[in-house]
Amino acid sequence: MPATIISGKEVAARIRKELAGKVEHLRARGVVPGLGVILVGDDPASHSYVRSKEKACRELGLHSVVRRMPADASQAAVLAEVEGFNRDDAIHGILVQLPLPDHIDEREVIRAIHPHKDVDGFHPVNVGNLHIGERCFVPCTPAGVIELLDHAGVELKGLHAVVVGRSNIVGKPVSMLLLARHATVTICHSRTRDLPSVTRTADVLVAAVGKPEMVRGDWVKPGAVVIDVGVNRVGDRLVGDVDFAAVSEVAAAITPVPGGVGPMTITMLIKNAIEAAERTVE
Ligand code: NDP
Repeated sequence: MPATIISGKEVAARIRKELAGKVEHLRARGVVPGLGVILVGDDPASHSYVRSKEKACRELGLHSVVRRMPADASQAAVLAEVEGFNRDDAIHGILVQLPLPDHIDEREVIRAIHPHKDVDGFHPVNVGNLHIGERCFVPCTPAGVIELLDHAGVELKGLHAVVVGRSNIVGKPVSMLLLARHATVTICHSRTRDLPSVTRTADVLVAAVGKPEMVRGDWVKPGAVVIDVGVNRVGDRLVGDVDFAAVSEVAAAITPVPGGVGPMTITMLIKNAIEAAERTVE
């Protein structure tokens, strides 16, 4: 039987309705959640992501400010913009669109964001708090993955979750979130030996690699739940890290690309920005 499709579009639309209610509530208390975005350079994908974030803010009634800076902007100039947002009471969440140009030290810029405004959850304070289970901003894509699993009714406790990819943005944080839900977690990466033999043991398989359709049908245990984080452009098509056609014949449930994890990421960003605003009136 073909797998159930876990639709990120549907889940994101439902969450956005809930978020609209929260924004209304905050506005009634005189607080308009504000997101400050810093975009450096001309990368078309980054510009497109930032436009989507602005659109989502507009639709949900958030205040958003985007600082577009030239590709040769200095590190000091970028840090000054971060500092400006840190001091601005109308800005509750700050996002620096990554990647930054090579001459800018990404880690230093992320460290400059006030942890209470770090809605991407990349500041070491938030990363540390995620690891020790304290309140923090959870990175948006991993948070979206967990929302999708919840929506699919997956009871993670005791399941074997295999995450392929160990980036700071996706692989590591999603692994911590799965662990916090009492899954038994295996993290795989480019040096993992005989990867298919590991993925075949997964009850829940999360692919976050950046290699088009790498996960084949025979890499997946029948009945597994498969979350495909990958976004890869192949010619004029967008494909995930999972061979959707083959794997959907084996898995119980699977996310499509596009329309799976993608729509969740911006939704979780908006959720974090609203939470940052809520914290100011707690
Ligand atoms: P990174 O390139 O930072 O990390 C990729 C990870 O995959 C690394 O840990 C790497 O291992 C591992 N890897 C690479 N090749 C192999 C291989 N052959 N076998 C096993 N593991 C391998 O990517 P990101 O985590 O940032 O992104 C992953 C994917 O998710 C990309 O397609 C990206 O576009 C997408 N993405 C989608 C988002 C969304 O909103 N839908 C948001 C963010 C990312 P090692 O550490 O050993 O190098």
